[in-house]
Amino acid sequence: MAIHLDHNATTPCLPEVWDAMRPWAVEAWANPASTHGAGRAARRALEDSREEIASLLGAWPDEVVFTSGATEANAMALAGIRPGDLVAASDLEHPSIRENMTLAESRGARVNRLPRADRGIINPRDWAALCPEAPNLQVATLAGHETGAVQDMAALIDATRRRFGDAGAWHIDATQAVGKIPVDFHRLEVSTLSFSAHKFFGPKGVGALLVRRGVSLPPLFVGGGQQRGRRSGTEAVYLAVGMAKALRMAVDGMVDRQIACTQLREGFLAGIAPCKPWEILGPLAGGLNHVLLIAFSGVRSDMALMALDLEGISCSAGAACSSGSSLPSPALALIGLPEEHRKSVIRFSLGPFLNPDEVSMAGSAVAKIIARLRGPHA
Ligand code: PMP
Repeated sequence: MAIHLDHNATTPCLPEVWDAMRPWAVEAWANPASTHGAGRAARRALEDSREEIASLLGAWPDEVVFTSGATEANAMALAGIRPGDLVAASDLEHPSIRENMTLAESRGARVNRLPRADRGIINPRDWAALCPEAPNLQVATLAGHETGAVQDMAALIDATRRRFGDAGAWHIDATQAVGKIPVDFHRLEVSTLSFSAHKFFGPKGVGALLVRRGVSLPPLFVGGGQQRGRRSGTEAVYLAVGMAKALRMAVDGMVDRQIACTQLREGFLAGIAPCKPWEILGPLAGGLNHVLLIAFSGVRSDMALMALDLEGISCSAGAACSSGSSLPSPALALIGLPEEHRKSVIRFSLGPFLNPDEVSMAGSAVAKIIARLRGPHA
């Protein structure tokens, strides 16, 4: 059996998406900045993709800045933090945010981090209490890549607005949310929002930052001044086309995909049921239904991952999905998991196109492996 239960790390590019991209890579490959006919055709495809993405996410086309992915989009959103600024954040964030926070601190910014978030959910009262004065920037992840927790952004924004009178600047990492739950940029009332196409069955190497009209950010690098000077460099038309296609499919198929994932989740949980004790660490309801962050007491996740890999089951530890690191993620402390259990956490992230029987079988295989690793006396 070979089964990918690591959809939060990445998803395959769907054949329909690939088909939509191919002509713009192989045939109509002109530079979209060229003024000749071929260039103008490429420009049109690029701008059509921008419009499609904007309309699917409740933004204006001129608010969409194509990037190489969410890492770049997050860096772009945080590049404006200045020495002395006060930033509200949490350790629930992906390293592409956390590392930028550390960098900002080393340059003299103050970063106040949330001390606790049960099941990965930020309590609006705790959030509003985080800063003694109005922060210059607040940063949150709409849907957690580890826990699957979905934040109630309206409540968080409202909490700080009530305390400080003005919500101030907000950056939202929506990388695990876009394409899976409805995301409406203008309704969220945030300044910037990042995402990456490969999390919703699009190509790798492309993402975007939505930048609300009137928000000014320093560019990460300068050059030809493409994308209104926000992101210099020749735009990858075929990747933008692929991202637009993948997002259109994700939004059109969202409800079906959610239903499929709910059924897969039930089948998987039934499969692992025999190897109790285990505990779901993320939200029990209301989170991303395809994400299961589970602590298997008495089992080292690195050993479990190796054994699961040998069985063809791909998943990840409750650690950063970025660098192959086996260090427990700081998010595990934030959700209140005692230190002795932090190396026993595995994240399974299902995908709507998986075969339900195979997912149930994978659940049973996980149960057997966990029982084996615990040994006969467990
Ligand atoms: N933010 C979150 C929440 C993520 O899950 C990821 C990818 N794991 C990223 C940002 C970074 O995305 P990319 O690697 O595509 O730049």
